[in-house]
Amino acid sequence: MIQITMPLGFLGTVYREIRQALVDMAEMFGLLDQPAEVTDRPGAPALQVKGGAVEFEAVEFAYEPARPILRGISLRVGAGERVALVGPSGSGKSTIGRLLFRFYDVTGGALRIDGQDLRAVTQESLHAAIGVVPQDTVLFNDTILYNIAYGRPGATRAEIEDAARAARIHDFIAALPEGYDTPVGERGLKLSGGEKQRVGIARTLLKNPPILLLDEATSALDTQTERDIQDSLREMGRGRTVISIAHRLSTIADSDRIVVLEQGRIVEEGRHEDLLARGGRYAAMWARQSAEGAQDAA
Ligand code: ATP
Repeated sequence: MIQITMPLGFLGTVYREIRQALVDMAEMFGLLDQPAEVTDRPGAPALQVKGGAVEFEAVEFAYEPARPILRGISLRVGAGERVALVGPSGSGKSTIGRLLFRFYDVTGGALRIDGQDLRAVTQESLHAAIGVVPQDTVLFNDTILYNIAYGRPGATRAEIEDAARAARIHDFIAALPEGYDTPVGERGLKLSGGEKQRVGIARTLLKNPPILLLDEATSALDTQTERDIQDSLREMGRGRTVISIAHRLSTIADSDRIVVLEQGRIVEEGRHEDLLARGGRYAAMWARQSAEGAQDAA
């Protein structure tokens, strides 16, 4: 009996970790009904993360053979670097995130983390190395404690509270009549968009991944909440490799590097000031969004 329950218990934990990562990714990329198309190679080793450098080498990708989506993407994100992907709708930003998580395999070129091809390592180890913070965090119908602990099954109460403090949601939780035991989700306490995102940040902090994939908010939150969340995300990114998929440029202007995509190609790359000075695609997008922002504020 013991022989059976032990491996099953272990599998349960692994399954939960994978499921959590998949739920976050599915939420982030609208993939709920998508079957996994990739499998581990027999005997594949676990990914060994050293610093969390991500390298796209001449990556080609198509969902359907007749329609190429990524056309020769070469991009190296150094360990601890913060890179933002920007570009028009449909340019391939989310697709890059999906490939990094190995929802699909590249159709040409290679994608590596710390020199290891993603196709050669287990998906479980890959998913453990990447933290995903979607715009809209999925809450399970359970306590707020459970919802944060999901980031790392087996975490202690003190670790969970530390993560909540770092995500600046601890005081809010502590003030609830049932505290961390408050049921949330559809049948429990309804959390605001900002509170839900903080639960997502706490969950990810608990998971402590070397690489972060962020889906920057479009416009769901009010300005102050958004600024606070931005600060939390920035803090969380310290010492990690961060790839942000950005919709609004104001949230990523201070990135180490901004990569502009258009029709599956990198058309510009650099720091905010340099790209503005260049007066190209990014500068035009910035001018357009600044004008829209001024209008919204008026
Ligand atoms: P947005 O800013 O609107 O989120 P994006 O830059 O993230 O856009 P992607 O989601 O990467 O763009 O999509 C790139 C292209 O791939 C789009 O033309 C889209 O229609 C196509 N695409 C995305 N998912 C699939 C899919 N599952 N099957 C077929 N085509 C897809």
